[in-house]
Order: sequence, then structure tokens, then C-alpha cells
Amino acid sequence: MKILVINTGSSSIKYELFDADHRRIMAGGLVEKIGEERGFHTHRKTMPNGETVKRVEKRLIADHREGLNRVVGLLVHPEHGVIADKIEVSAVGHRVVHGGEAFNSTVIIDEEVMAAIKENIPLAPLHNPTNLVGIEVARSVFPDAPQVAVFDTAFHQTIPMRAFLYAIPFELYENDRVRRYGFHGTSHAYVAERAAEYLARPLGELNMITIHLGNGASMAAIKNGKSVDTTMGMTPLAGLVMGTRCGDVDPAVPFFLANHLDMSLKDIDNLLNKDSGLKGICGTNDMREVIEKKEAGEERAEIALDMYTYRIKKFIGAYFAVLGSLDCVIFTAGIGENAPYIRELSCRGLNKLGIEIDLERNNKTGNGIREISSPGSEVKVLVIPTNEELKIARETKEAIEAHGI
Ligand code: AMP
Repeated sequence: MKILVINTGSSSIKYELFDADHRRIMAGGLVEKIGEERGFHTHRKTMPNGETVKRVEKRLIADHREGLNRVVGLLVHPEHGVIADKIEVSAVGHRVVHGGEAFNSTVIIDEEVMAAIKENIPLAPLHNPTNLVGIEVARSVFPDAPQVAVFDTAFHQTIPMRAFLYAIPFELYENDRVRRYGFHGTSHAYVAERAAEYLARPLGELNMITIHLGNGASMAAIKNGKSVDTTMGMTPLAGLVMGTRCGDVDPAVPFFLANHLDMSLKDIDNLLNKDSGLKGICGTNDMREVIEKKEAGEERAEIALDMYTYRIKKFIGAYFAVLGSLDCVIFTAGIGENAPYIRELSCRGLNKLGIEIDLERNNKTGNGIREISSPGSEVKVLVIPTNEELKIARETKEAIEAHGI
């Protein structure tokens, strides 16, 4: 069974083709700058020995339909391709950002599902419309393959009301669905499952704190395998300090910016989403550069790192209180997997909670799951590479098998 996973952005299509029977990636890539003068298509083909061969095409890619057709063109290409005909693709799995309250699991896409994703556009005005375009284009390019939606919000639908409601008039929840949803659900769920496998214990018995630190960043409190709280909110702006997003600020800050600095709503939106976080404090959102700047003695970079890790530590403490007992803490995504300094600072001084990092283990690099807690640490601290595409492929396979397709 071959499953194509698609993640459609406003001007990009990220894709991976999985051989689900043999659990391996056959090909993948990224179509970027769709609609711009010069588009890029980077395609990777996995060779039988596991090595990948990359091919880059630069040319105008007018729209998502042309982008996906170019993807298919390379997948079936005699030299760069991996399949003989697009009919070999058994199903297409789509990452969909916002499922609102309508979806707590993966679903096969039909007209009702399309309508529900449309209904959730006000909650994710930038993402859901492009996800819909991706689905529509994939439907026409692969008319015989079932299309499956995997929602970023679904894993967090188990969060109880006390944690998802905002203390604003209840009608705003009832009528307008203003509440915490949480995101990165596919990643939190994936690393939680991998941790259970690694620890050889049932997922349903484990209490964990998962820490996804990429350009966007979020944490989840997972009780008996289910999400019970998370740092992102109705939108991905809340919670941790991120690359360019502010995370938690006093909700009155925007009023101040509007009233005293005469900023428009659009300016404030841009400021908090695109010019804040690490970038707002020290000028760059790339964690590698922030660490380099700090090592070169730049004070602002040191402040940014201090704020970044303080916020993580604060939520570890809060989620420990929520969970009551804790089996493991998991770091994942670009920063979580590759920045020992961030992991160390975030966990420093948490010995009283049973969280103790072994500095030597933490500094070692590696590809797979790594245990970085000291042998005596009550709580295991793990680094687990996330793989949202693989999780989407697995969920897609399970969904179509469950429907006997
Ligand atoms: P992601 O969104 O998961 O791709 O993560 C992107 C973030 O990971 C960026 O801030 C990168 O600077 C950061 N990152 C990637 N590799 C490293 C590394 N070796 N050390 C520190 N940060 C890294």
C-alpha cells in the first residue's frame, strides 16, 4: 500500500510517499514559492540502499494544481520516480490545521467533512483555506484514491473544559466556539507513542510532558496517554516563546498598542505573530544563530534564551501539578532534538520534581531516541525525533483499513 502525505501551505506543498507495507519512505520533497516568479521544486528519491538522490527544479509554478501535477510527474518519472503510474497511490493523507470541535480523530474526506473544514475557516483563516485547496487539487489529480484528513487539533480534543475554556462570557464559547484548541497534535501524539514503545509500557498508563520546540513551539500534558492540557490556544500564538510569535502576553497589550501607539489590528497581528518571540528580543528567529550570538557575548541573545527556557520550565512545573505524577519528559522538533543547551536550561533545578539531566548524555548527538536523564532520575527525559508525515501516513492507512477500503 502506497500512501502520499501532503501538507499544503499558502504557497507550498510538502509531500512524502510512503510504502506502508514495508514502512519506508519512497520519495518526498517540497514545492515552494507557488505563484511567484521563480518557484522551486526539491524532490528526493530514496534508493534501495537507503541513500537519497535530490533533484531541484526552478521554474514558475502557477498554482497548487500545477504544483501537485509536477509532484506526480516526478513520482512517475522513469529516472527520478518511484512508481510506474499514479494509480499505485492507494490513499492521500492531508495535514489539516484546524478541526475545531468537529473532529477528534482522523477521517475519510467526504462532502460533509469538506463542509466542516470550511466552517472552521474563521478559526484558522490562513491555514484551512489552503488545506482545502490541497484536498480539492489532490481529489482531481488522484480521483480513485481516498482522501484522508489528519487534524493538528484532534489529539487535544480530550482536554477537559476547565483547561480549554477562557474566562470570558460563556456565550462566546457556545455561539462562537472561542476556546483553547491546541496544535502540533500529530507531533505530540507521535512522540508519546514512540516513548511508550521505548519504555515498553502501555501508552494508557503513562503520564508525560511533551515539548515540541520548532519554529512554532508548544507543550502538552499527557495523562494516561491522552492530552489534558496544552500551551497553544484558540490559535498557535499562545504559550511558549517561539521563533517569531510572542506566546503568552497580557491580553491587554494589544489595547495599549492600539490606544497609545495608534497601531491597527493588522499591525498588531503582524507584530505578535511575525516580529516577536526570539526575533523580537534579539533579532533572529533561528535558534542556531541565537546561541551563536549568545556565545559571542550578545546580551539580548542571552536574555532571549533565558526567557525561552524559563517559560518552558514554568510549564513543566505547572503540568507536573496537573498530572500529579510524571513518567517522562520528551523533547522534540528542530530545537528540542538538536539544542542540548536549551534542554539543559529548561530542566535545570528541577531535581526536586525528579527530573535530572545527565550532561554528558545530553550533549551527545544521535538520530534515534535518546535518553538524556541521569540513571538515578525518577522521571525519564527523552529526545525523540518527531515525524508528523509518518504519523499521518499511519493514521491514513488505519482509517482506510477501518472502512474496508
Ligand atoms: P523545525 O520548525 O522543527 O524545523 O525547527 C526549526 C528550528 O530548529 C530553528 O529555530 C532552527 O534554528 C532550530 N535548529 C535546527 N537545528 C539546530 C541545532 N543544531 N541547534 C539549535 N537549533 C537548531
